[in-house]
Amino acid sequence: MAYEVLARKWRPKTFDDVVGQGHVTRTLANAIEQDRIAHAYLFIGPRGIGKTTLSRILAMALNCEHGPTTHPCGECDNCKGIAAGADMDVIELDAASNNKVEDIHGVLDQVQFAPSHSRFKIFILDEVHMLSNAAFNALLKTLEEPPPYVKFIFATTEGDKVLPTIVSRCQRFDLRRISTGDIVRRLRFICNAESIAITDDALLAIARGSNGGLRDALSALDQLIAFKGTDLGEADVLAVFGLVSREALENLAGSILQGDIPGILRTVAALDESGKDMRRLTAELLWHFRNLLVFQQAGAELARQDVTEEQLAALEAQSKLAPPQRIVEITGLLSEMEARLRAALSVRTLVEMTLIRCARAAKTVSLDEVLRRLTALRDQTIRRLAAAAPQGVAAADAVPPRTAPTSPAAAPSAPAACQPNPPRPAVAPRAVPISLNEPAALDAEDDESEDALEPCAAPGTGIEAETPPAQPIPAEPLKTSDGQYVDEILNHALRLFGGRVLV
Ligand SMILES: [Zn+2]
Repeated sequence: MAYEVLARKWRPKTFDDVVGQGHVTRTLANAIEQDRIAHAYLFIGPRGIGKTTLSRILAMALNCEHGPTTHPCGECDNCKGIAAGADMDVIELDAASNNKVEDIHGVLDQVQFAPSHSRFKIFILDEVHMLSNAAFNALLKTLEEPPPYVKFIFATTEGDKVLPTIVSRCQRFDLRRISTGDIVRRLRFICNAESIAITDDALLAIARGSNGGLRDALSALDQLIAFKGTDLGEADVLAVFGLVSREALENLAGSILQGDIPGILRTVAALDESGKDMRRLTAELLWHFRNLLVFQQAGAELARQDVTEEQLAALEAQSKLAPPQRIVEITGLLSEMEARLRAALSVRTLVEMTLIRCARAAKTVSLDEVLRRLTALRDQTIRRLAAAAPQGVAAADAVPPRTAPTSPAAAPSAPAACQPNPPRPAVAPRAVPISLNEPAALDAEDDESEDALEPCAAPGTGIEAETPPAQPIPAEPLKTSDGQYVDEILNHALRLFGGRVLV
């Protein structure tokens, strides 16, 4: 018997076998069960994710001798004929090469005749967006009110190009790219059934290379078997498709997150010299950081849809290396690079420079973070002052009146200058916190102090903030992109700020 490629041999035959399109198969099965079958369906989605397969399964479900049924038998003449694309009552037409109005007239001629041996006469038009406008228009009237025995199933990779008048006459289903996890599981199932020994990392590499298309993944598997036989490892897949290994990719991401610039340069040099595709590397790195962000923001459950357990462990470890806003920044830089790569003359240089920028982005803080920490410091200071206020009344006379709170050690003395009651009501702490992120919330009198950048000048108060409070500044010194230590900025800001709080 002639060899049959895996994608055809393992083409799903029932709705339950279809991978990753549960939202579509469930609706179709319900429609059949409830006898609410529409006269026209439109399947939209990228190549290789199951549009043609779904069209045929739907045709089988409708025309199976034991149907209409959600579980076509696959054994009767109708099912077999449809699966082989040789059933007289199921007419498959490639609209890419039959896109003229005459071709549609041919279809319309056939619509007039009842099915020869089946329940329905079913027309499957693939790549329907390729039809000319005249062809679309010729189809409209019949599509609106076809004879009861006629069903249309359209499939297309470009839903936007299908005329709205056609779309509105169909039940539209948007098929999804199949997740990496789903592809790996399906490949594992097929490899087990075909007695192919293959490692999990090799399956993952195939899935990564197939961009969410199961047919591409199965074609790649076919090619690998032809190349290496039935015992396959990750290195075989990487060699054939020019991919970077999962470990190398995760290490590179780790170097970026740790700000290890020599490590980045070494890895890029090694990958470039071994002939890896830098564009592909960028896309995969971008996907890795996307998954990292999903993990940080939505947790392991959602991330698991797109990664394997090994990848999930790496994501968990790396998620602690940088907060989400820095991952967003890195992702932005990588996306920018992806767009620029097409026109780049020196791809490697662009990759190196961008990854260095990413590493700096991973280790430097944004103004947002500075403000957030400053706000936290302020809130903490206000709380301390409020908590210490009763003692402060007694201590007021013992403390030099023109000294602002400076450190936790000095905290008990601070309320002396700011306690809410006389002798100095003017220096009472504010009850309402000021949001540093909302300048509009500041009172007009604060504006006077905008220019007061001298650390010791607490405008309008006469209070001198000589040394900064020493509390919640983290142990690890953080730098801004200019190389300035954030703590210095915070301290500086706090001196000004201390004056404001005490006004
Ligand atoms: Zn059947």
